[in-house]
Amino acid sequence: MSSEFLSIIPVDPRYVPTADVQESAVAAFARMLPMAESIDAVMHREIRFIDAGMEFETVSCPLCGCELDPVWWSDAMDTAQQNAFENLEVTLPCCDSASTLNNLTYRMPSGFARFALQAREPKLGRYLTVDKLQALESILGTPLKQIWSQHRKRGNGEVRTGRRAVGSGR
Ligand SMILES: [Zn+2]
Repeated sequence: MSSEFLSIIPVDPRYVPTADVQESAVAAFARMLPMAESIDAVMHREIRFIDAGMEFETVSCPLCGCELDPVWWSDAMDTAQQNAFENLEVTLPCCDSASTLNNLTYRMPSGFARFALQAREPKLGRYLTVDKLQALESILGTPLKQIWSQHRKRGNGEVRTGRRAVGSGR
């Protein structure tokens, strides 16, 4: 058994909207997903890595398209995590280009954020349509991206979200 989540996060990992804006965004998000089991604004003190959970597959270079070595990625994540993901800059091993962990090509889509709108069991397929995402962007005043994730249910219905066991890939 697993639970599905749709998280809407700012492209800028540090972005946190004001309480009023969060409230409007949650209300609009709830209207878009009337079948969802729950809709929440989730806020963390520090930047978190938000991944696709069980669906997490590969990480590739956004510039040359090479699939990145999971050990390299895992080490880069460990280093960034020591500073609570405040500095996501990396030099890519494939083509020696400068990029950030947030700009890598994650399959499935993943990202870094302190703030997320989160729908549990959204029951709509996977992602919001572009016009709906744009409506949320204008409420939140910032570009957004969508992270769909699937997490295994624990015994009592608890699920693990928002946190990847960095370093588990080796
Ligand atoms: Zn590259």
